[in-house]
Amino acid sequence: MADKSLKNWRYFHRVVRDTMSLRRQIACLAAGLCILAVAAAAFGASLIARNEALEEARRDLTLIAGTMAQRLDQTMFDRFREVRNVADLDFLRPVWTRDPAVIRKTLERLQSSLDHYAWIGFASVDGTVVAATKGMLEGASVAQRPWFINGLERPTAEDVHLAKMLDHLLRTSPDEDPFRFVDVAMPVYDETGKLAGVLGAHMSWSWAEETRREVLHNNLSMEDLEVLVLSQEDTVLVGQQVEDGKDGEVFDTDLADQMTAVVETSGLADYEGLGWKVAARQPLSVVYERANDLVMNIVLIGLAVALLGAGFAWIASRTISRPLLDLVTVMDRIGRDEDAVTVPRQHGSREVSQLSASIRSLLRRLGSVEEAEKTAQSKLEVLRDEYSRQIRSSEERNRQLGADIRNLRTLADMDPLSGLLNRRAFKPFAEDSFAMFVRHGRPFSILMIDADNFKTVNDRYGHRAGDEVIRAIGEIISEEIRTTDKAARFGGEEFILLLKENDANGAWTLAERIRLKIASNVVTSEAHRISVTVSIGLAQAGASDRDVEDIIARADKALYAAKSSGRNRVCIDGPMLRSQSA
Ligand code: GH3
Ligand code: MG
Ligand code: MG
Repeated sequence: MADKSLKNWRYFHRVVRDTMSLRRQIACLAAGLCILAVAAAAFGASLIARNEALEEARRDLTLIAGTMAQRLDQTMFDRFREVRNVADLDFLRPVWTRDPAVIRKTLERLQSSLDHYAWIGFASVDGTVVAATKGMLEGASVAQRPWFINGLERPTAEDVHLAKMLDHLLRTSPDEDPFRFVDVAMPVYDETGKLAGVLGAHMSWSWAEETRREVLHNNLSMEDLEVLVLSQEDTVLVGQQVEDGKDGEVFDTDLADQMTAVVETSGLADYEGLGWKVAARQPLSVVYERANDLVMNIVLIGLAVALLGAGFAWIASRTISRPLLDLVTVMDRIGRDEDAVTVPRQHGSREVSQLSASIRSLLRRLGSVEEAEKTAQSKLEVLRDEYSRQIRSSEERNRQLGADIRNLRTLADMDPLSGLLNRRAFKPFAEDSFAMFVRHGRPFSILMIDADNFKTVNDRYGHRAGDEVIRAIGEIISEEIRTTDKAARFGGEEFILLLKENDANGAWTLAERIRLKIASNVVTSEAHRISVTVSIGLAQAGASDRDVEDIIARADKALYAAKSSGRNRVCIDGPMLRSQSA
């Protein structure tokens, strides 16, 4: 599960990283950091502010409780002193037990000085009330009342209690709340210094409630403030709970949702105090409210700072990413535009200037490689042209050479006077034919032709006329043979013929035709009409021939025979030797 979410996060991170612009990434990072910083600051501030608020509330509450306690002590001390002053009045000393009227008058004057004095009376040592304000309880016995018992011993103060004897005297309606008193009592001495009785004053406890209200009034700014007066045993003497009729309830100073400060009263001078405590408290929710306001302010200011930071980051990110963007734009153009060959030097950060320098050097190298490639390409093209030109000219030369060679060969093979082959060129044809005869039995014949008495032609008409005759004989031979046959001038006025695919009869017929045509031909040279005859020897290739020379020798033998037997005739070599005269 965790693995999968990690994978998903990595995928998400990669997608964001690859698709988000650098500028956005920087801005988001900076904004995130701003928000994080603000959140951390707000959290810290809220902790500090809450502690501060707690501390301040504790201080305030302690101050209020202390003030209240001081006022309780002060008021009690004032009453204590007033009553004691009266008890100590010198002029009353002779009259305490004798003149109740004077005492009553004095007591009533004292009562009139303060509303809270509910009753002030003097009881003689036996507990009988001698004189009292408004004559209340005069003649009654207070011998059992704690204030009287203690008052006989020393100046004394009695804790809050419900009115007992006075309740029905003071009450004006049955619905009225029960009266609660605090008592102050003093021993009284006559002029001889003998204990005359006890002077006691009952004060309505409502003054404490008034004091509490005053304190609350003075601290109206403290919302939901509660101030209570507690007895030594932590029961509530004054406060909300008493008004709700829960008198005597034990006060809990450790409520979790309340901030409570408790200050004990300590008495003042010879008033020793009654162990009261003052508790001031406020709901923690109210205490924290102040801190919450502070935190809210901090968060708002922080948000403003974060917004400002994000804006700044947005601007800064543009400044940071601009050189990179410019590089990217230029690089993009280099890919498309042939004229763009380099990037400008970019500034902005060390990395960017290094990057632009590296790209520039890379592009320079690329450029030189391209240049070299272009040069090599053009060189290659020149070489290729040159090569094909050379090929063309050498082909031409070869063609020419072939033609020349063919011409030369023709020239070399030809006898210039007769236009027939010469002896050298004839030889290979003769050998080929002999080979074909040996291998495949193809027959062929050799004819030897020689002009008769040619010496006489030269002698009579001149050497040039002789040449004309030789040329004429060559022409006749050329006209008579087939294209597959070969004819050559063998030397002087002697010719040789190779007749292919011919039997002896065919060869003899051709020889006869040549002989007759030459004999009937007339050569005209320098007004001379010249006629010559030829003798012809014929030999057919036979099994006994070892090579073509054997056949030629036999044809020559037949020619000799033709000469010997009278010239102008054809002779065949061999047993079927025939001859015919002209
Ligand atoms: P035969 O009938 O016995 O053959 O008598 P012939 O006179 O022809 O005898 P021979 O073969 O001895 O003589 C050949 C002569 O042909 C000798 C030479 O003067 C002549 N001759 C050889 N070649 C040429 C040539 O090229 N031109 C000319 N005009 N005469 C040539
Ligand atoms: Mg001859
Ligand atoms: Mg001859």
